[in-house]
Amino acid sequence: LRLPVTLAHTSYDVVIGTNLISRAGALLAPVLPQKKVVIITDENVAPRYLEQLEAALAETGITSRSLRVPAGEQTKCLEMYQKLTDNILEHGIERRTSIVALGGGVVGDLAGFVAATTLRGLPFVQIPTTLLSQVDSSVGGKTGINTRWGKNLLGAFHQPLCVLADVSTLATLPRRELVAGYAEIVKSGLIGDEALFAWCEEHGAAVLDQDPEALAMAVQQACAFKARVVAADEREQQKSNGRALLNLGHTFGHALEAELGYDGRLLHGEAVSIGLNLAFALSVRLGLCPRADMERVNRHLEALGMPAHIRDLSYTFHTQALMDHMQRDKKMQDGRLSFVLAHGIGQAFTTRDVPATAVREVLEADGSVA
Ligand code: NAD
Ligand code: ZN
Repeated sequence: LRLPVTLAHTSYDVVIGTNLISRAGALLAPVLPQKKVVIITDENVAPRYLEQLEAALAETGITSRSLRVPAGEQTKCLEMYQKLTDNILEHGIERRTSIVALGGGVVGDLAGFVAATTLRGLPFVQIPTTLLSQVDSSVGGKTGINTRWGKNLLGAFHQPLCVLADVSTLATLPRRELVAGYAEIVKSGLIGDEALFAWCEEHGAAVLDQDPEALAMAVQQACAFKARVVAADEREQQKSNGRALLNLGHTFGHALEAELGYDGRLLHGEAVSIGLNLAFALSVRLGLCPRADMERVNRHLEALGMPAHIRDLSYTFHTQALMDHMQRDKKMQDGRLSFVLAHGIGQAFTTRDVPATAVREVLEADGSVA
């Protein structure tokens, strides 16, 4: 399946299907400006898929060179950015040579930032291999790295020539990573696609059992949703109801992650899963959302064994610490916080008018310690 992403100055396809890596030569030859690529990948993905990709590219005469980085969030850093760009420049890159990201969101963000900035922009292709990167980070054009001051603080918008979302690669993904990516799919449904959420209720278990058809359907729907949002608000300028909505569950989620120091004990998607529940709990607490909708969200996450509440975690969270992270994240004004809330399933909206006391109450009802 080809899903077109249409933006103001460019458009590209997200190709979703099985065994795409083994057809990468044929799929990429028509879009590459030159039959030469540098592949950036990580140490978990390389042994599984790199050889297959290089062979497939060679079939249509595309020559490739590959660079490997360690797996994990720490790789998205200035030092690794410097190592990669040094290596690329040392080998004398040409302006029309493409950078190919083969891996999850870490590789995609880092390789994308290398592509965005080297020679002021090299052509770029994404081959996302995690569920999260297939439904979220590979679509939208955001690239970047972390600094000691926080996550994703250096970055650029750089749209790819093409995205190949090969759902066959998800067969080797650890279950926890699969669950984390699935949380972002549920999020898409909750933001603005009730039919997608209803589909999740019916087929979510098959997705987490790595059923290839269910995975392909899930990726298609979530990518289509993200592509619509991104097309409407390419650079996050429509504060009211564009890309900002993609942060449903994320203000809470980021606070939980930040409190653990982003050390991998809680995956981003796991934090988002809890954050989605909290966003609905807060919406109900403020009288903006029917309780039945919150219960439906809860039931779905719990039925699949996903993290749903702060009390489910084996770490202690203190309310004030979480509040501090949210205030840093969102710049509280006059004791009020901005949030993405929901009037119901598929009806998210942004507001700047949430009293801090309501946020505290919701956190403590969920298991945070006063
Ligand atoms: P990740 O890239 O770290 O991948 C998770 C783990 O799975 C890694 O250990 C990786 O080596 C391994 N892996 C990848 N593919 C595999 C496969 N097919 N089989 C087995 N193992 C595999 O993490 P992620 O969740 O994909 O991405 C998270 C990153 O994405 C974060 O840095 C986040 O900031 C970023 N992100 C970016 C955007 C954006 O719009 N650019 C959006 C959301 C998230
Ligand atoms: Zn997210």
